[in-house]
Amino acid sequence: MGVILMEKVIVVGSGAGGATVTRELAKQGKKVTLIEKGPYTKTPYAYKHYENVDVGVELLKTSCIGGTTLVTAGNAVRTCEKSFKDMGIKLEDHFKEIEIEMNVSTLPDSHFGLGTKLIMEKSESLGFKTHKMPKFILPETCKPCGKCASGCPRDSKWTSRKYVDEAVNLGAEVIDNTTITEIIVENGELKGVKSKNKEFSADYIILSAGGIETPRILKKSGVDAGNNLFVDTFVSVGGILRNIDFNKEVTMNALITSDDVILAPHYSNILKDKLHKYNVNEGDILGLMIKIADEPSGRVLENSVEKYSTSNDVSLLAKGSAIAGSILKEAGVDPTTLTSTPVRGAHPGGTAAIGQVVDKNLETEIKNLFVADASVFPKAPGAPPVLTIVALARRLGKYLGNEY
Ligand SMILES: Cc1cc2nc3c(=O)[nH]c(=O)nc-3n(C[C@H](O)[C@H](O)[C@H](O)COP(=O)(O)OP(=O)(O)OC[C@H]3O[C@@H](n4cnc5c(N)ncnc54)[C@H](O)[C@@H]3O)c2cc1C
Repeated sequence: MGVILMEKVIVVGSGAGGATVTRELAKQGKKVTLIEKGPYTKTPYAYKHYENVDVGVELLKTSCIGGTTLVTAGNAVRTCEKSFKDMGIKLEDHFKEIEIEMNVSTLPDSHFGLGTKLIMEKSESLGFKTHKMPKFILPETCKPCGKCASGCPRDSKWTSRKYVDEAVNLGAEVIDNTTITEIIVENGELKGVKSKNKEFSADYIILSAGGIETPRILKKSGVDAGNNLFVDTFVSVGGILRNIDFNKEVTMNALITSDDVILAPHYSNILKDKLHKYNVNEGDILGLMIKIADEPSGRVLENSVEKYSTSNDVSLLAKGSAIAGSILKEAGVDPTTLTSTPVRGAHPGGTAAIGQVVDKNLETEIKNLFVADASVFPKAPGAPPVLTIVALARRLGKYLGNEY
């Protein structure tokens, strides 16, 4: 059992996983330092910190205090709860606690725009299971504007930045603008971490640099990580419905499910660019995102990432796009204008999977070196992962503090 008493802990990365475990340890009065590659930024400017990697499938992530949580759509879904339970990892109590803390709920009708309502109505009438999407968004302060993925202008959405602020109030130290490159191990014993020009000593290290960067740090330190990359591949399909003003609605406010594909109302500027010959404005497009649990066909290497869509991925995306087209046509979109974005992925993970790179307590083969981020998922959730990453990181914090 890992029990931290007065030893020093370093957490690398301040996104969903890193901020949560830092706060948990700070609550227990532990000496914890959070090191983050990106800067502090005001939430509405998060879009400036996108650090996408286009490898055929475009991978989306942001690098700043709060990590990629600053640009989420606020979707709050328990993902992979059963698969983790089957592995002996119970998250139920953690989910219950964080759902209260993050105010998880569906938004009131006042926060549903005409485009989303049309999509929901037509999807139901075509026989698809359709629900309001649970959100970690406060309706009292949220004024629908469609800017969730840029950074909320009113800070109405839960972000892990809130946990970082709490951790600091509880005594945690935060070092921003510092990229960790390597773990220091001497004679098989963990000593600390290294940036380009500095070393930081620690007795325990938790890597939370996300599904792409965590395996890179591990690989550089001799741990075989980086295989099994999934990204929850998605495309957005849309077409013209003039003056619908859907671009100003709450992003992804509904969830449509069909076997192994999920769909959600979604506006993308890429659609507008693709429809420019029709002389469209942003307010003239209605769209749906199609998301799948892709096969873990990717790999993170030292200086590159490999990821392609398998034939099964392509067939699921085609199925989802056909469903999207039928719903959008019923909603009034001119079917001759339907188009799609390229394939993208906003949930990279699987690259330090439980059972392969870390054990059930998220510890690597190097004693006292842990991972708490999307890297530890054994397979693609095919759905929003933040709640589950937070639950796993909270569980790790409790474990390290001997609280379970
Ligand atoms: C546009 C968009 C919308 C999304 N919407 C939702 C949603 O509605 N609901 C949902 O559940 N999920 C959503 N996601 C996915 C979600 O944001 C991520 O899955 C989640 O934030 C991943 O958490 P993480 O801790 O693994 O990594 P991150 O949150 O990406 O955090 C990693 C942090 O580590 C830092 N870092 C990286 N390398 C280093 C290094 N070498 N040294 C120091 N620091 C480093 C990064 O700068 C970053 O701050 C969305 C993603 C995107 C891109």
